[in-house]
Amino acid sequence: FKTLRLILGDQLNAEHSWYSRADETTLYLIAELHQETGYVTHHIQKVSAFFAAMEHFANHLKLKGHQVTYLSLDQSAQFADLPNLIVSLLKQHQCTHFEFQRPDEYRLYEQLHSLAGTLSQTGFYCREWDTEHFLLPFSEIEADFPAGKHILMEHFYRRMRKRFNLLMEDNQPLGGKWNFDQSNRNKLKANELKDIPAPLCFANDVSAILSRIESHHIATIGHAQPQLLWPVTASQAKALLDFFCRHCLARFGYFQDAMTENSPHSWSLYHSRLSFALNCKLISPKDVIEQAINAYELNSAINIAQIEGFVRQILGWREYVRGIYWGNMPNYSQTNALKATRRLPDFFWTGKTKMACMKAAITQSLDYAYAHHIQRLMVTGNFCLLAGIAPDEVEQWYLGIYIDAIEWVEMPNTRGMALFADNGIIATKPYAASGNYINKMSDHCKHCFYDVKTKTEANSCPLNSLYWNFLHKNDTWLAKNPRTRMIYRSWDNMSEEGRTSTLSKANSLLANINTL
Ligand code: FAD
Repeated sequence: FKTLRLILGDQLNAEHSWYSRADETTLYLIAELHQETGYVTHHIQKVSAFFAAMEHFANHLKLKGHQVTYLSLDQSAQFADLPNLIVSLLKQHQCTHFEFQRPDEYRLYEQLHSLAGTLSQTGFYCREWDTEHFLLPFSEIEADFPAGKHILMEHFYRRMRKRFNLLMEDNQPLGGKWNFDQSNRNKLKANELKDIPAPLCFANDVSAILSRIESHHIATIGHAQPQLLWPVTASQAKALLDFFCRHCLARFGYFQDAMTENSPHSWSLYHSRLSFALNCKLISPKDVIEQAINAYELNSAINIAQIEGFVRQILGWREYVRGIYWGNMPNYSQTNALKATRRLPDFFWTGKTKMACMKAAITQSLDYAYAHHIQRLMVTGNFCLLAGIAPDEVEQWYLGIYIDAIEWVEMPNTRGMALFADNGIIATKPYAASGNYINKMSDHCKHCFYDVKTKTEANSCPLNSLYWNFLHKNDTWLAKNPRTRMIYRSWDNMSEEGRTSTLSKANSLLANINTL
């Protein structure tokens, strides 16, 4: 072979120009790697989904006439790391060229760039390609997302809508407004629970992969599924998108922020569950957006608020957090603006807590490697923010547990959006909430051990005193923020005694955090 081309586990884009023609002189490499299973403790479904998707992709390329070498853990284990493996294969196949697609993670980007530097010095021809996946060209990130600067998602999103002419009419936003976020904040009423569609789940046999994970002693979290429900091929990703457009999109926006524990489909609701397929590039954001808009145009049951809400997530948020990540790395990974230092409580790994909302979000994450955005942001994320858990600890958890967790998207969401560790590069204020928010958006509080209405009783919802404690601790700067200043009026109006007992309640909860 002349050329060795590396395909990483999140680069399974069958439409990439690499594959436009089969070439006998190019060898593609896809490898299960210890370095990738070990940089954080992953959910077992996440590891099996990646390996299954990679294997399918290798087979797909072979069928198309490409030369592919797929290395399982059994074959790759002898190499210390990815560069070691690549150097060895270049020698073995007497290649003179090494090519790779730009990694989306800083860690891998650094590793491959350093390897390419060394290889170039020793006479190899090295080339980096774009992944041909995102809508915003990588070359524009530096200008659009200057390091350390707050960039408003809404401004970026509007530019993207105009640029790609999506949901636009005569250069104006369709429906007369850019954003229908206000229509996306409904609670699910008891009589609406029966309408939640049963999610489309696949049954991918990953038993051989599970055996490999076990025999290589890969540490994992969560519950294994020998019949994996996640999509692992482009056609399964497409089927999931079809299902979403047909059964979920008409109510996506309405119930985007809702939570319930009283449906067999509480874990999936009206969400697309496309994030894994998107992040490993089995499906492109452009195709997802276009097909969803097409469904909206053909189906009068889908209104503008629903489709706009969905397009905003992918064209807006997803592209935006990638910009924030690359515009701010590597410094972003060190941010801890609120100087949070507490350890993550043990119940994050077991779901064993008396807080009904936390129990539901954590248990479902362990069961499915999935939680929807509001569970991540306003349940587990909010808890970690209020309790002052160290960002590194929180990130290890998010990066490990979710099927879709890849650092470029996990980190800005966790450090920035959930924890405000980036000091406002993403959010204009911390997303801090008391139990009242959970009660407004869910049915968790109804039968919870804790009472959402009180702050300082033995069985008071922990979020209530923790919320005021958080505001009190951060008052020097939050009281100055025009978006949070108002909240301090209620705190100031509380009696001195009320304030003292709230703070002492919070401190005693924090001292016994593992027992909550
Ligand atoms: P849907 O609700 O159906 O939304 C559609 C798509 O929009 C998603 O598939 C996703 O691609 C995109 N999207 C929506 N919100 C965001 C967002 N805030 N950032 C980026 N893309 C978004 N998403 C990840 O893909 N990987 C992560 O590791 C990840 N970690 C997160 C950690 C925290 C603390 C928070 C608050 C959010 C995180 N998110 C992450 C964003 C979001 O929660 C998930 O993308 C979403 O829940 C995936 O489920 P879904 O496909 O059903 O999404």
